[in-house]
Amino acid sequence: MRHLGQEALRIDTTGLPLEWIDYKDAASLYAVDQVVYTLGADIYTVFGGINSITGKRSQINVNSIIATKGRSKHFQDKINQYIPPLNNQTLFKRDSHLCLYCGRRFSRRSLTRDHVRPMSQGGSDAWNNVVTACKRCNHHKGGRTPEQAGVQLLAIPFVPNYAEYIYLKGRNILADQMDFLFGYIPKTSPIHRRRHLEQKA
Ligand SMILES: [Zn+2]
Repeated sequence: MRHLGQEALRIDTTGLPLEWIDYKDAASLYAVDQVVYTLGADIYTVFGGINSITGKRSQINVNSIIATKGRSKHFQDKINQYIPPLNNQTLFKRDSHLCLYCGRRFSRRSLTRDHVRPMSQGGSDAWNNVVTACKRCNHHKGGRTPEQAGVQLLAIPFVPNYAEYIYLKGRNILADQMDFLFGYIPKTSPIHRRRHLEQKA
């Protein structure tokens, strides 16, 4: 059994990954009978109140992957165009917590968001113009492009697709959840290579 901080992966009935949910949200989906089927291991048991008729305490076994009712067709149609919100936590994970200039790994608080083409030169604050950089490299590069600063990018920034973004948002993803999510991530995705890097670290 896992610790209650472990998140479950919610999917729709067609198997599309939707979001990470905590144990309270997972238990209430079971309690209101929204769970259509489950996959993956039992991650924990949540105890509810005592049933006044049977005198027994209710008990819900939460699985690592939970398929729930209700998702509009509309949403599925839009997924291919989905652009995830940009934030440092997922950006740093996209880049495996490596500085994409010096190639060294840093803790999150030593990392920064670098605009490859600086905003002062018309660069945008968007996934395909931002990379993870250590403070030192970011400072050295300053308001210059890599060419102007004489530095080289180690990898090309990219916009994560919907499933990649869910993967990037996950904390402590379990093996069965990972296998499931990776079924939605194209084989050509840089995430595969970077996941490998992350595991080696
Ligand atoms: Zn660096």
